[in-house]
Amino acid sequence: MREVIAKLAPLHRKLGKPQPGDWLERFQEPGQTFEEYLKCDPVLPRGRRRILYVQPLGEFTETQRKIVTLTAEFLGLYYGAAVKVRKDLPLSIIPAEARRVHPTWGDKQILTTYVLDKVLRPRLPADAAACIALTASDLWPGKGWNFVFGQASLVQRVGVWSLYRNGEPDKSGRDFRLCLLRTIKTAAHEIGHMFSMRHCIAYECCLCGSNSRRESDRRPLALCPECLAKVCWATRTDPIARFEALSKFCGKNDLKPEARFYDKSIKALRPARPAQTP
Ligand SMILES: [Zn+2]
Ligand SMILES: [Zn+2]
Repeated sequence: MREVIAKLAPLHRKLGKPQPGDWLERFQEPGQTFEEYLKCDPVLPRGRRRILYVQPLGEFTETQRKIVTLTAEFLGLYYGAAVKVRKDLPLSIIPAEARRVHPTWGDKQILTTYVLDKVLRPRLPADAAACIALTASDLWPGKGWNFVFGQASLVQRVGVWSLYRNGEPDKSGRDFRLCLLRTIKTAAHEIGHMFSMRHCIAYECCLCGSNSRRESDRRPLALCPECLAKVCWATRTDPIARFEALSKFCGKNDLKPEARFYDKSIKALRPARPAQTP
């Protein structure tokens, strides 16, 4: 893994000074190198708990449904894990006390803590490495908050994320790609936490903390070399095979810059062909 990290490092940008309002301007973070990760006795998607579950919650438009399906596929490739999409749960299982209409904006919202504690945890399958719910409904996490993009309980290995504020995927191809990219980026980031990965402070990386939509849009989908080493080690995945699968996924879904970056990463890891002798 050390060799992989060294070969990939030149492709990645070190994290610069935080911009005003950025996560690292607001919060002190210790970071976590690959070696520190190995020492922290991480939660691993191995043994009995290997499956990543995706739980659709509530209604989706056809386009949103496509994003849910693609997110499930993507997570499987990103974490080298089997993914199962569970049977839909209707929003009617959320009681009135865990719903509201935002007092000034009028958005219909559901309470994240209810989803985590009362919907997902009691239904967590024994073989689940993690279970994430995706919903098109807006979310709020409780008193004092306007809304939240998503929330996870890392120890309980459950999380819920909303497509509501990820853009309007039905509007155009460009909007669809933006919504897809935002959804897969958040899902990949949060699943990383569930496997004991801390926020990255070394590079521009999918595991960087973000304090706003603007900041998370700036972050790449790809993992930096240190975080990549953690995932490949934790999931026993070959980095080249992983990059190939992700490049194919991104290419197929018209995420061109992301596909190009994975291709560059493959090139950096492949041994150079021996020079032709005359
Ligand atoms: Zn995070
Ligand atoms: Zn990183």
